[in-house]
Amino acid sequence: MKEVRLNNGVIMPAIGFGVFQIPENETERVVTDALEAGYRMIDTAAAYFNERPVGDAIRHSGLKREDLFVTTKLWVQDYEYEDTLRAFDNSMKQLGLDYLDLYLLHKPYGNYYAAWRAAEKLYKEGRVRAIGVTSFGNERLQDLFLHNEVKPAVNQIETHPFFQQKEANVFLQQEGIQHEAWAPFAEGKNGIFQHPVLKTIAEKHGRTVGQVILRWLNQRGVVVIPKSVRKERMMENLNIFNFTLTDEEMKDITGLDTGKSPIYNDMDLPTVRGIGTHKIHD
Ligand code: NAP
Repeated sequence: MKEVRLNNGVIMPAIGFGVFQIPENETERVVTDALEAGYRMIDTAAAYFNERPVGDAIRHSGLKREDLFVTTKLWVQDYEYEDTLRAFDNSMKQLGLDYLDLYLLHKPYGNYYAAWRAAEKLYKEGRVRAIGVTSFGNERLQDLFLHNEVKPAVNQIETHPFFQQKEANVFLQQEGIQHEAWAPFAEGKNGIFQHPVLKTIAEKHGRTVGQVILRWLNQRGVVVIPKSVRKERMMENLNIFNFTLTDEEMKDITGLDTGKSPIYNDMDLPTVRGIGTHKIHD
């Protein structure tokens, strides 16, 4: 699949480009390279402190706005109703855009009900084409949509061969909410690019491990947003549509699941406290 149709009819590319941990002063160059490589979806966040150079790269690219799909995220600190509206305005100012494609609640902490209601207002006003969440477990996600009007279009969750999110994937499919993978390469952890099972499959297809991982996610119906600061890797990561993994190969990768994150546990108490109280502005 090269694109997916969200539950409100909006078309979203199946692969985009993530800019987490790209320093502000490098971001315009990196995003310019990504757009030149052919990416049309960019995933940023207020908490990444690089929305402005993402916007600069978009503006200088000469690409038509309607050909791009831009995602940004609301940080927990701004999860009150009025704060959300203000934070959205600020993100749009940073990005230099007059509408957004996807606005995500960045973490499942704090007053996300108030934030969601403000996001619903922005959606109804047409300022954002789709709204969703990230890192929400099935229970919190279900509770959120049972007690609100607009069902999230996307849940962006950590997903890669070592943490496959099988239960979330089933639930999201059942509810018509698009599964999007953050850290599709597990941020390089656990020697993912050297893993013998992935290397064997990659060699069979004359591909790289990165391409095999992205293709495996794509064949599971998961949208991906790999990050790289290197143009040759950006091109490599985008080139996943002219080969297909067999059922056997898909199954071999299924066997790599450890059922837990090598990055962090969202529901671990120090994480809930640390991330939940982290401030990105005064
Ligand atoms: P990732 O995409 O899993 O991994 C990025 C790492 O892989 C970088 O070290 C990159 O190095 C390397 N890499 C990329 N392509 C490669 C290739 N073909 N071969 C070898 N190495 C390769 O990690 P991520 O950036 O954390 O996740 C992707 C995006 O998801 C983020 O940028 C962000 O937009 C989003 N995200 C969201 C959340 C959330 O809470 N919602 C959390 C984390 C991430 P180089 O850059 O040196 O190439």
